[in-house]
Amino acid sequence: MTQPATSTKTRVTALPGDGIGMEVFDATRRIFAAAQAPVEWELAEAGAAVFKKGIPSGAPRETLDSIAKNGLALKGPLETPVGFGEKSANVTLRKHFELYANIRPVRELPGIKTPFTGRGIDMVIVRENVEDVYAGIEHMQTPDVAQCLKLMTRPGCERIIRAAFGLALAENRKKVTCATKANIMKLTEGMMKRVFEQVGPDYPGITRDHIIIDNCAHQLVIAPEQFDVIVTSNMNGDIISDLAAGLVGGLGIAPSANLGDHVAIFEAVHGSAPNIAGKGLANPTALLSAGIMLLRHIGAFEAAATIEQALFITLAEGENLTGDLSPRGHGVGTDKFVGQVIDNLGRTSNLPSRVYSPLTLTPWPDLTAHTEPTSRELIGVDIFIESDLSAAELGSSLTQIAEGSQLRLDSISNRGVQVWPATGGHTFLVDHFDCRFMLKAPAQGNPPQGIADLVKAIGSRHSWMHVEKLQRFDGKDAFERPQGES
Ligand code: NAP
Repeated sequence: MTQPATSTKTRVTALPGDGIGMEVFDATRRIFAAAQAPVEWELAEAGAAVFKKGIPSGAPRETLDSIAKNGLALKGPLETPVGFGEKSANVTLRKHFELYANIRPVRELPGIKTPFTGRGIDMVIVRENVEDVYAGIEHMQTPDVAQCLKLMTRPGCERIIRAAFGLALAENRKKVTCATKANIMKLTEGMMKRVFEQVGPDYPGITRDHIIIDNCAHQLVIAPEQFDVIVTSNMNGDIISDLAAGLVGGLGIAPSANLGDHVAIFEAVHGSAPNIAGKGLANPTALLSAGIMLLRHIGAFEAAATIEQALFITLAEGENLTGDLSPRGHGVGTDKFVGQVIDNLGRTSNLPSRVYSPLTLTPWPDLTAHTEPTSRELIGVDIFIESDLSAAELGSSLTQIAEGSQLRLDSISNRGVQVWPATGGHTFLVDHFDCRFMLKAPAQGNPPQGIADLVKAIGSRHSWMHVEKLQRFDGKDAFERPQGES
């Protein structure tokens, strides 16, 4: 007996996941098989069952190896059961494979009525997926003061911005909007805006603009049809991509892709919906749509279009839809919905379908990113001190300690607001002060001994938390000033 040829099929790691995961994965697998999509599955485990085996990452070695080998995965929802493991398996996968680009298409789907129906919403949100406050670098500074480092890097900004422009080219989109909070966080969010302005001219056929993230949220609700591609940092993207999904029918039908240089993981955005798990009621649209994105990613455009048209026709005709998309009491089960999509394979409609071409990410070398400025000066230090003194008392104590040293006390701020010398403002104080000392003579090269001596002297009278250098790169201050500082 001749075996069917499998050599032209792309092997994909399948992570059905938890709750309704297996139901929506089986639905996708059946539709893919009926459409003869050129994919073969390699089943792997992640999520609740793995945590319960005592693997704290939620993703065992064999799963990571399978994804690394295939370079592709389709993933259902993963739970972190209470009492097992502290990390999310989703985050483990994202970080392990450096999946830096989260791609969330947001598109009006036929037959899914929302208050925005008819507005022609069709955009993609490109979210930086590994940096920002999600680097997970958090420290309690005092029992009452928590700190989270917001780390954004030039290569991190550049690769996500290039991914956004690359996606615009691949999908024949005309505009990329960069959404940041650069007006407030001038160094971190500002870096994304500056890199966007530097990189944008490399893509002359694409219009580009910048929008402040809060106005972006507002505009997404007021006039969502104006957006084509939005590129943004991790936390901004986390929030606006869910907001945008809500405009076209909610998280239950939203797909997403997590792309890196070596691995791409496609997933449904929804969770494991434990209330309907095992009942055959789940809507597989999100995972199926993620599968369609995967097909395009591997260049199987025809299979992707066939399945997408069958899905769109099923949704538009609205006869056999799952409960979440139907009036109460009129929904069908997953099985019947899948049967309807399969029956519609091969039908064509005038329902909108975009023209796609392969998206190629700019590969990033596995090197430590480092840019050496032409000049680098050390002009002072911020010493963060835990103290229950008043600002005036602390100012007087630190001035005295610094007397005769290589530094002078310049200012003290509390939660970013200058409190010494007093500005006349009224600030609620916590026990965490940023005490800024300036070097009497700026230094090049190694930090002068006077800094270590000052920290030691302060340590004998106060409790310091950490020290930040105040530097100037190429003649420009590489730090921000507190509110109220003149
Ligand atoms: P959820 O699982 O998305 O479910 C919320 C509700 O939305 C469900 O109870 C169900 O509501 C409806 N729903 C979601 N997906 C559906 C589908 N495909 N078909 C039909 N209805 C659907 O959110 P959650 O309850 O907040 O989270 C449950 C678990 O999933 C948590 O452990 C969470 O950590 C995990 N989670 C994982 C991911 C991921 O892996 N990417 C994402 C989110 C959450 P009704 O039946 O009431 O309409």
